[in-house]
Amino acid sequence: MSNPLTITAFSTALYSTWIFVEEFRLLLDAGDGVCAGLLGKSRKIDWVAVTHADRDHMTGLLQLQQLNAHDGKPQIFYPRDAGSFPAFGEFCRQFDPRSGPQITWSPIEPRQSYPIGDSLRIEALPNNHIQNSAQIKSVSYRVLREKRKLREQFRDLSQAEITALARREGSDALMESHTDILLSYAGDIGRTAPDPWLGSQILIHEATFLSEEDSGVLAQSKRHSQMPKRNQHSVLPDVLQLAKDVQPEVLVLNHFSSRYSPEEIEATVVEGAASLELTFPIYVIPPGRIVRDLLRQPPVWPRAAPSPDERS
Ligand SMILES: [Zn+2]
Repeated sequence: MSNPLTITAFSTALYSTWIFVEEFRLLLDAGDGVCAGLLGKSRKIDWVAVTHADRDHMTGLLQLQQLNAHDGKPQIFYPRDAGSFPAFGEFCRQFDPRSGPQITWSPIEPRQSYPIGDSLRIEALPNNHIQNSAQIKSVSYRVLREKRKLREQFRDLSQAEITALARREGSDALMESHTDILLSYAGDIGRTAPDPWLGSQILIHEATFLSEEDSGVLAQSKRHSQMPKRNQHSVLPDVLQLAKDVQPEVLVLNHFSSRYSPEEIEATVVEGAASLELTFPIYVIPPGRIVRDLLRQPPVWPRAAPSPDERS
């Protein structure tokens, strides 16, 4: 990426997840501590896209609205049938009668989108974290930029010829629209096919567990086959294979379990990426740490070449 986005983030499974993309004025999930982590930067949040109502993804909204709500902002997107959000909105209006009513709450469902600023849209995608056939309780998101550009067959014309043609035929005959998928954010999610993520420049995907054994899913399903399904999460080797199929420009991994140390996570990512021969950079949001300007830090993969001092 020639000009990386400015991303500040905290993400630890069970405790809190929030990811702020400064250029988009967009917060992805709003776990505890988002205002304390961003301080004055939290005033730049105009839009909040919340993936589901687990408390570690939404309790930061209480302070955010109290400190920063004004003129209908922030606008908060939430999965259409997640009743926690209307209930929480009502609580905010009563608890903070000055700021609470300023917020805009916008239910969203897969394939629906809203404008965020002049040239961008946020779109919801289907999400399998909360298995519920009838209701939309969890979603993923992506940020789209629609561009109008000159149709291929006119690219060699001079400016005068283009102007003449536009006058004669109208601009739609000359221009076509093209959508860039600037960023996709999976949120909490289980195993998926590559399709929803194809074309994403940045893919932010959870990897709660480093291995299938750790996820305990197998043991759980054998012992409790009668119980309702647990909410779905992802396992690192699956996510790396998914990313290999998607081929994003950048992969960001988040939502690791706090049982892992950052060193253990990095080593496992490097090992997995090397064995799959991945060609794009991978960044990690390690548990328990706020990462500032993530994409201007050295990626975990590929590994930086050792400096001359280290080699000697
Ligand atoms: Zn979570």
